[in-house]
Amino acid sequence: MTAAFAIREGMNDIDEAPGKTWFWELERAVIDANRCIQCGACVAACPSDSLGIGPDDLPTLVKMCTGCSLCWDFCPRGGLRYEATWKLTGGDRPAGFERTRNRYSARTVSRIPGAQDGGVVSALLIELLEAGELDGALLARPSEQEPWKGEAFLARTRDEVLSCAGSFYNQTMALAHLDLKRYDLPPNPRIALVGTPCELQGLRAMQARPWYWGSSRVDAVVLTIGLLCTKSFNYEQLMVQEVQAKRGVVLAEIEKIDIIRGKLYIYGRDEAIRIEEPIRNFHGAALKGCDECADFLGLAADISVGSVGSADGYSSVLIWTEAGQQAFDMARDRFDARELDAPAAIEKLDTLDKTVAFATLPRPFDPEAPLFIDYEEHLRHYAGGDRAPVEHDAVRY
Ligand SMILES: Cc1cc2nc3c(=O)[nH]c(=O)nc-3n(C[C@H](O)[C@H](O)[C@H](O)COP(=O)(O)OP(=O)(O)OC[C@H]3O[C@@H](n4cnc5c(N)ncnc54)[C@H](O)[C@@H]3O)c2cc1C
Ligand code: SF4
Ligand code: SF4
Repeated sequence: MTAAFAIREGMNDIDEAPGKTWFWELERAVIDANRCIQCGACVAACPSDSLGIGPDDLPTLVKMCTGCSLCWDFCPRGGLRYEATWKLTGGDRPAGFERTRNRYSARTVSRIPGAQDGGVVSALLIELLEAGELDGALLARPSEQEPWKGEAFLARTRDEVLSCAGSFYNQTMALAHLDLKRYDLPPNPRIALVGTPCELQGLRAMQARPWYWGSSRVDAVVLTIGLLCTKSFNYEQLMVQEVQAKRGVVLAEIEKIDIIRGKLYIYGRDEAIRIEEPIRNFHGAALKGCDECADFLGLAADISVGSVGSADGYSSVLIWTEAGQQAFDMARDRFDARELDAPAAIEKLDTLDKTVAFATLPRPFDPEAPLFIDYEEHLRHYAGGDRAPVEHDAVRY
């Protein structure tokens, strides 16, 4: 029995190895079925570093697949029952808004240029970096080649954090960027990860099963900040096709993009509104896999931050864990913070998000069920529907 089989067997508390799941099964069921949410968990989980990111920003094989199954196991659209990760942070406490330890509406005392809402995420990270609590923070920074595309980046200084402020409405494959060798860091670095809730699910699951993750420093992440999220988008389809080609807005001339109160707003450099349209008009550019997601709140995070629930210019801050509370308390002097303005607005959006997810998810939703789903079980639920694995005529590798 290989080591990879051994861990998989132990993981589901079952007696027999369930058989190998290869990368191409993940590819058929998730990537080719257009269900990938570009979290990068499969790349991080591969112990032989066999996966990378292709030119289409999707996972691809770069070396031989050993059939260890781990890319499948940790994929939140494949073998990872994402809702079962919620108990890894919350234990027996209810998996919902009521689980929060504290909730605030907050903004920074000194304005953060380019911040999306109250600048809480940036200010919190700057405080922790300057206090020596963190060696870096994996964020999204603007691409130099493609305007308004966010790319994963490890910020290590105040200025680098500031250069990443604001929201990018595309996924960055964040977990695929945990190979930290190219950065000058101490031997046991401590970093924060900012990401959409789905990215934190895969990370939590890997951290709960200490293992050899190839070059990925899953162990280095000591703080996770989730961004409240109902959907993310394909950069090419949203920005290049819908915004630039169809509506004639030059991407390089955009000052800010916001999705708030059901609308997409795009502001020009002169602060004039270039686009104000219901977000449903852009549904075709959203990631199909997002429809299956019921984790608007980011229940696997230490802290979640969003805009809904607070007055304009403030961030809504939900504290889920002790680590999250400690981090927020350290930076407390940087914030003008009060009790969350409108909890009901967050609960309403969470309910809406779940309604869509429950109507879409072909498998039963069960936070109490085992963490992992076998490929065969996946097939039983997904085969025959519009999210079924794609059949290929021939073996492709
Ligand atoms: C795809 C997406 C969907 C969202 N949907 C909602 C929503 O439905 N409702 C809601 O209330 N809030 C939503 N948010 C969160 C909101 O837009 C703000 O990010 C949040 O309020 C934090 O604002 P801030 O001013 O405190 O953060 P800032 O100080 O501006 O810092 C934000 C940090 O997030 C990082 N970041 C930005 N985009 C990404 C990305 N794509 N992946 C990883 N890191 C990133 C930045 O690099 C920066 O460090 C969404 C964010 C994203 C990226
Ligand atoms: S959803 Fe995440 S883990 Fe699954 S294939 Fe896509 S990048 Fe990999
Ligand atoms: S809606 Fe869910 S799956 Fe989609 S990006 Fe947001 S957290 Fe990830």
